Parts: sequence; C-alpha cells; structure tokens
Amino acid sequence: MITMKEVVREGNPTLREIAKVVTLPPTEEELDVLNKMLTFVKNSQDDELSKKYNLRPGVGLAAPQLGISKRMIAVHFEDSKGKIYSYGLFNPKIISHSVQLAFLGGGEGCLSVDRQVDGYVPRYARITITAVDLNGNPVKLRLKDYAAIVFQHEIDHLNGVMFYDHINKDNPFFIPEGAKEIEF
Ligand code: ZN
Repeated sequence: MITMKEVVREGNPTLREIAKVVTLPPTEEELDVLNKMLTFVKNSQDDELSKKYNLRPGVGLAAPQLGISKRMIAVHFEDSKGKIYSYGLFNPKIISHSVQLAFLGGGEGCLSVDRQVDGYVPRYARITITAVDLNGNPVKLRLKDYAAIVFQHEIDHLNGVMFYDHINKDNPFFIPEGAKEIEF
C-alpha cells in the first residue's frame, strides 16, 4: 500500500515535469498503481487508518506525487451537497471551462507541500473533463465549485504546476474580477 513515505515533496523534479499520456489500455502495473492511489486517498480520510499509517488527510493524489510521471489521478471527496466523487482516472483532460473563476476561501494545501502557503488560488469555476476510469470506461464530468477546484489541482500536477504558482505574488489575497469564493 501507499503511505506518506512514497509521496514526493516539493523540490522533487518529477513534480515539475509534464507527465506522459498513458497508453490505453493501461498495463497491469499502471492499473495497480492507480487503484492503490485511490485506496490511499480513501484511507487518508479514515480516522483509524490515517492514524495507524500516519497519513495526512487529502482529497486527491496525482501520479507525479509518487515520482511517476504519468497522467493518472485519484480523487475521493464529497461536495457541499453530499455528492460523492470517487475516481481513479487515466489521461484526464479539461475540454472546456467557464470564464468565471473561483477560489477556496481557506486557500489550498497539497500532500507534497509540508508548509502552510497562504493566499487565494484562482481557478475556473466550472470545467468539463474527459478521462478513462479504472474499469476502462470513458467518462465525461461536468464539475463546478469545490469539485472543479479539486480536479484542477490534481490535473495541474500532470502539467508540472503547483497550487501556489497561481497565487498573486504581489497580493496573495487578490481577488480577480468576478471570481467566486467557495467556502468549504
Ligand atoms: Zn497537490
């Protein structure tokens, strides 16, 4: 199983690479890694297991965070309406997005970043993504608000982008015009 030991931290060059497209169908090993990534994210939110294995709670993980430069992400979370998003995805791609931006009022964190970074991280308020799931089925997801932000954070990892790259350097709490604050 994956634990925090396997999670690479900022400074590791893989986090800054453009991850490679996974040739589908995936190999047994790729499928195994992605399944383990999803299990890790789920376990990290379980009080007992996270304590037992010393896991920092997270809602998503991207393969580059394990030092694997491939386009795979796992997410597991519930939105404010109680809808559950639980996916292991190959080659997720944003195919369209809103003009409007959104940001989390409390900022963002990352399992690869062991420090608090203050500031707003403006992202698209709504996105549509395509990908292939763990069962080999193509998926198309329309996401907004918190869900859109989580997926963008993870897809950014596939492009060598860290969340703090989006924070305004001069004024970390600058709010772009029309951007929507998401409380979560
Ligand atoms: Zn992250």
